[in-house]
Amino acid sequence: METASICVVAELDENGLRECALEIIGEGRSLADSCGASLTVLVTAPAARDWLEALKRQDVDRVVLIEHPLLADPSPEIHAAALGQWLSEQPPALLLMSDTVNGHETAARLAAQLRWAIVTDCLWVKGSLQSGFNAIKPTHQDQVHTTYTCSPGQPLIATLRPGVIGTETPRGARTAEIIRWQPALDESLMHVRTVEIVPGDPRTIDLREAERIVAGGRGVYMAEDWHLIEELADALDAAVGGSRQALDLGYIPNERMVGQTGKSVKPRLYLAAGISGASHHLDGVNTDALIAVNRDRGAPIFSRCALGVVGDLYEILPALTKRIRELRGMK
Ligand SMILES: Cc1cc2nc3c(=O)[nH]c(=O)nc-3n(C[C@H](O)[C@H](O)[C@H](O)COP(=O)(O)OP(=O)(O)OC[C@H]3O[C@@H](n4cnc5c(N)ncnc54)[C@H](O)[C@@H]3O)c2cc1C
Repeated sequence: METASICVVAELDENGLRECALEIIGEGRSLADSCGASLTVLVTAPAARDWLEALKRQDVDRVVLIEHPLLADPSPEIHAAALGQWLSEQPPALLLMSDTVNGHETAARLAAQLRWAIVTDCLWVKGSLQSGFNAIKPTHQDQVHTTYTCSPGQPLIATLRPGVIGTETPRGARTAEIIRWQPALDESLMHVRTVEIVPGDPRTIDLREAERIVAGGRGVYMAEDWHLIEELADALDAAVGGSRQALDLGYIPNERMVGQTGKSVKPRLYLAAGISGASHHLDGVNTDALIAVNRDRGAPIFSRCALGVVGDLYEILPALTKRIRELRGMK
């Protein structure tokens, strides 16, 4: 029975390895190096595809491919059953999973099945094999970081909030051992089936998953004007987010606030209108394409953005929305 290992469950989508998977593999590698442990990546899938080659290059010690035709269904219960069979025989010291919708639910099912400790929605994990692991997560409406300690020798499952740690280029120093394994699964384990996957409404999709975000702040003077942000988001198929001020002014609900105490986001495009660029806000924004619209030339956001537009959002946003709609042939 191997205990001195750290395991990571890598999530896949139709394009292969998800960004959040690369993130936790990197985190698993750092922890494993600091603890002198090995790093194993677990993947559940109906069959191997080209992502296996990508996984081999991720500087991991071992990839366990848990293969079964029923794993074509993304339903967490069947994936938890498959993972549970492997993990009950090969318990790691620490199991890292992504705090995505499926990752969160699969982790909870695994913890119940294996009777292991679990801490969800963590920002990061620290510790060692000797002293045990500490999982740090935001609590008290995200105002406090609380540390949960797990005694050494007890496996801990921690789900990590995507977009907080970020990805690093793997050093590629190791050649991963590949193990292909078939769990014993049958249809009686599937109480829930995925009938269809409908892409989320970009306006309301979880901000952590959004590819594009249009965010507004106090520069939007009244709730009645918030449609300027929403209309631009619609034209770009983007999600709507906002600053703390947008939350306090009642423009957005809590879960759409971006920042240190809000959601950490990693979109391909982040357009911030009427947001000053306080570090509390920008600490939660990880993107190469930050566009700022602000009427104050000296606003801090201009020192962090890829493209800055100095001007009044009440003029710029409607013109931009109109132009994008024209270019996209939208009515
Ligand atoms: C412990 C702590 C945690 C925090 N966590 C967060 C967090 O997670 N997320 C977060 O967002 N904040 C957070 N804050 C608050 C943060 O420090 C800022 O106060 C907040 O981000 C400011 O929001 P804002 O940019 O919308 O408003 P302001 O700072 O008031 O900026 C408004 C901007 O709009 C511009 N503007 C005004 N009118 C127009 C116009 N017509 N057109 C264009 N631009 C215009 C102004 O020039 C200004 O730059 C936190 C604060 C603390 C103390």
